[in-house]
Amino acid sequence: MKKVIFLIATFCLVFFPLEAQDYWNTEIISVEKDPDTIKKIRQMDLDLLMEWNNRVYIIVGFNDFLKLQKENIPYALETFNFYPHKQREVSLQEGLNGRYHSYAELERDLLALQDSYSHIARVIDLGDSLEGRNIYALKISDNVYQDEQEAELLFVGCHHAREWISVEVPFLLGKYLVENYETNTQVKDLVDQCEIWIVPLLNPDGLEYSIHFYRYWRKNRRDNRDGSFGIDLNRNYSYNWGFDDEGSSPFPSSSVYRGPSAFSEPETQVMRALFEERNFQAVISYHSYSQVILYPWGYTNQPTAEDQLLDQIAADMSGLMLSVNGTIYQYGQAGAELYLTNGGMIDWTFGTYNIPSYTIELPPIDEDHGGFFNAEEDIQPIFNENLPAMLYLIDWTVQNFGSIINPSTRRERRYETRANLKDRTQFGRELKDEGEDKAITQNSKHKVNYPKTSGLKNKTTDVRIKQTDPINKE
Ligand SMILES: [Zn+2]
Repeated sequence: MKKVIFLIATFCLVFFPLEAQDYWNTEIISVEKDPDTIKKIRQMDLDLLMEWNNRVYIIVGFNDFLKLQKENIPYALETFNFYPHKQREVSLQEGLNGRYHSYAELERDLLALQDSYSHIARVIDLGDSLEGRNIYALKISDNVYQDEQEAELLFVGCHHAREWISVEVPFLLGKYLVENYETNTQVKDLVDQCEIWIVPLLNPDGLEYSIHFYRYWRKNRRDNRDGSFGIDLNRNYSYNWGFDDEGSSPFPSSSVYRGPSAFSEPETQVMRALFEERNFQAVISYHSYSQVILYPWGYTNQPTAEDQLLDQIAADMSGLMLSVNGTIYQYGQAGAELYLTNGGMIDWTFGTYNIPSYTIELPPIDEDHGGFFNAEEDIQPIFNENLPAMLYLIDWTVQNFGSIINPSTRRERRYETRANLKDRTQFGRELKDEGEDKAITQNSKHKVNYPKTSGLKNKTTDVRIKQTDPINKE
């Protein structure tokens, strides 16, 4: 078997350029999960897919085959008999992506929320993706067309295309807040006192590609001009960008390619502009899968100066999440507990703005429970168990707002008005020809000083991350 694979790989190398590695010439292989092999493959910059049955599954291209052979690591080709264990297919009745949102469906649903709840919900076009799709924010607040002296925070989803559930959770937060505003006093209080920003889909090009061409696509769709595509958006932020080649890759074909320079991509530029505009006091970036809550640093195993506070908030959120469905979300410092990453969003938001910054890896816990394939019927329960943590963090920003904001640094921001957004009758029909103005203007920014933690102190069982836990990359 190995010989055959070697021959195939050799054959292909003759006909394809060395760096060419895209969906059409990747394979899924598995290797035995022993400490020696794991150590080697961690250093080989591979796209680790899952662990199952004491084997590690990896998406590989031709260069990866060469690396494996060089290290004498035996592997089995799994492409043709591979499917995630216990995978539950998405229904085809609502398109290839079932009840998950495509770009056009999300656009439609966000605008529907704005239509139905226009006094508290506003859709804002933050700028264009590489292929020209709009990157939308949903702002929720009372007096939503004003920039008030209120706490504000951000929930962002889908840096990584194949992590479909990470679009749904922040979207459903928006839906929940507007639908319960009139009837739930807790929701009303939070919405009235806070400006809640939700960007459910930061990587629309990647998501569309994942839906229509290759389900495991992770990066954006940058043509790297060497036959490979895509930059890992969550390695493209500037804080210690490219710190080492372990936490990100300099090679374009890698699944964790950091790009030619920090903020080289329009999607991360949109995030940078948004943070320059706003005064966010906290941020959660959603990913899947693993069921973990991670906080900075990711680039090093050394703790931040605010380790205690970050850990306490994570513990509180974990406890609240556990109380809903009994789902355990382990928590810990990303770089110390899992693997190193550099150029990630939360290192940048923490390092630049000094605000509590979290990556939440949504369920399932491992490939055995579906991996990137969450069943449609799990979307709502996963949101439900995340909701109390989201409300907790909103409440935290409200409770700590007075002491940390200097009103003189805030300025009115001009967004494009609804009239300038694309004609909604076209939504869902076309993916091209989205030439929106970018409404971001450069305003002031300031640093937020750390307040004390406050509010809920839901003590939880110790669910700190243990080293043996999942290996898929945030
Ligand atoms: Zn991710």
